[in-house]
Amino acid sequence: METGQQWPWKTDFYIQLPKVELHAHLNGSISSNTMKKLIAKKPHLKVNDHMTMIDKGKKWTLEECFQMFQVIHQLTTSAEDVLMVTKDVIKEFADDGVKYLELRSTPRGENATGMTKKTYVESILEGIKQCKQENLDIDVRYLMAIDRRGQAEDFLEPLLEAKKAGLKLALHLAEGQNLLEETEMLLGLLPDRIGHGTFLNSSEGGSLDQVDFVRQHRIPLELCLTSNIKSQTVPSYEQHHFGFWFSADHPSVICTDDKGVFATYLSQEYQLAAETFNLTPSQVWDLSYESISYIFASDNTKSELRKRWNHLKPKVLHF
Ligand SMILES: [Zn+2]
Repeated sequence: METGQQWPWKTDFYIQLPKVELHAHLNGSISSNTMKKLIAKKPHLKVNDHMTMIDKGKKWTLEECFQMFQVIHQLTTSAEDVLMVTKDVIKEFADDGVKYLELRSTPRGENATGMTKKTYVESILEGIKQCKQENLDIDVRYLMAIDRRGQAEDFLEPLLEAKKAGLKLALHLAEGQNLLEETEMLLGLLPDRIGHGTFLNSSEGGSLDQVDFVRQHRIPLELCLTSNIKSQTVPSYEQHHFGFWFSADHPSVICTDDKGVFATYLSQEYQLAAETFNLTPSQVWDLSYESISYIFASDNTKSELRKRWNHLKPKVLHF
C-alpha cells in the first residue's frame, strides 16, 4: 500500500530512493566544488565557475556546451586531476543515493603533463578502486567512450568489432535533428542502450520505422531531461520524449548526462520526471527498480542489486 500521492517527504524520498546511473560523462559530472579546486590549481587559465556550469534557468546551445567541455579539459590535464575528479564524482553520486554507477569517459592524453590515454584510464580505475576501499556504498563501472564527432560510418567497423568481441554498446543517437541516416546506420548495430534518442519520435527528423525498430527490440533509452532542456534540444520538460516512451511502456532509464555542467542530481531528475508526468511513488520506484535490468554487468550483480532494492523498499516507500 502506498501512503498516497501527497508526497510529504518529497526531496528526501528522491534522495533515499536507491538509484542506478547509466549515462554520466566523467568530465561533465564535475561539481562546482571540485571545479573550484581545479581552478585554484591552474590560476593562469583565468577560468571562472560560470564557464563550466549552466546556472539555473539558463540555456546554452549544443555548440556552446561543447566549447565548455574544452575549458573543462584544460582543467583536467594530469593523472592526479583525473584521479581527484573521479573520486569526487563517485562520492557525490553515492551521497545522492546512487547505488550503481556506470561512469563514461573518452581516454585523453596531454603532452604537457605526460598523461597518456593509458594513464588516463588507469587513473579512473584507481579512483574507482580507492572509493571501494573506503567502503562507499556504490558499485562503479567504467565505460570506455569514443568521441564520435565525425562521420558515423567511420565508427561502424570498430563498433561492430567491439560488439563481436562481446562488448556492450551504448550509443548516443538521434540527439539532434536531421540525423535520420546516421540513426539508421547506428541502429543497424543493434545497440544495447540508446543515449537520448531525442528525435526518434519527432515529426522533424524522426521516423516511425525507427521508433518501431527500437520498440520491437526493446532497446532501453537513457533519458536526461535537464541536459536536453539546457542544451535546447527539447523546448520544455512537458515536451520531453520521456513522456512518449514511458507511456509506451518502453524501457526508460532516468540519467543525468552531465550533472556538473547542467547543475543537477539524479534525485532531482527523478523528481522532475515525476512532477512533470504525474508519476505515483510506486511508478517512480518501478522506474528505478527496472533500470537494474539494463546495466552492463553480470546477472549476479543484477540480482544482488534487486535484493538491496527490495530490502530498502518498505523504508523508502513508507509502507
Ligand atoms: Zn551524453
